[in-house]
Amino acid sequence: MASIFTKIVQGDIPCYKIAESEKYFAFLDINPLQKGHTLVIPKREVDYIYDLEEEELAGLHVFAQRVAKAIEQAIPCNRIGVAVIGLEVPHAHIHLIPIQSMQDMNFTNPKLLLESSEMDLIAQSIRSNMAK
Ligand code: 5GP
Repeated sequence: MASIFTKIVQGDIPCYKIAESEKYFAFLDINPLQKGHTLVIPKREVDYIYDLEEEELAGLHVFAQRVAKAIEQAIPCNRIGVAVIGLEVPHAHIHLIPIQSMQDMNFTNPKLLLESSEMDLIAQSIRSNMAK
């Protein structure tokens, strides 16, 4: 069965989309740790990130760099924290999280509950900062 992220890529499940290329896709995490918390995935469904082909893994990180630079411009922060967990959704993904301090990256913190209108605005703002 297709992963929830494959369903997002295929448009079967809605998301707050940030960016897409031939092989990669980025969208807001539905339960963000911080405003602008974004997930970056390969479209090809592979559970464990280190099972990706070398070139695909490198490409994922380069795509994530573009997204991170756009988040940085849209959301005031010290920098973009990067994490790979993968215990919940078996489709490789990188978390990009705008942080002020180490504490902001704590995945055991309560998640933010944002209105969909705010998620839309955040996504729009990040999208508008994506380099063409
Ligand atoms: P992990 O697998 O890295 O432990 O966590 C998966 C992440 O995916 C979580 O932060 C969770 O909030 C996010 N997530 C799970 N299901 C969905 C979904 O349907 N849509 C979006 N946008 N994010 C999701």
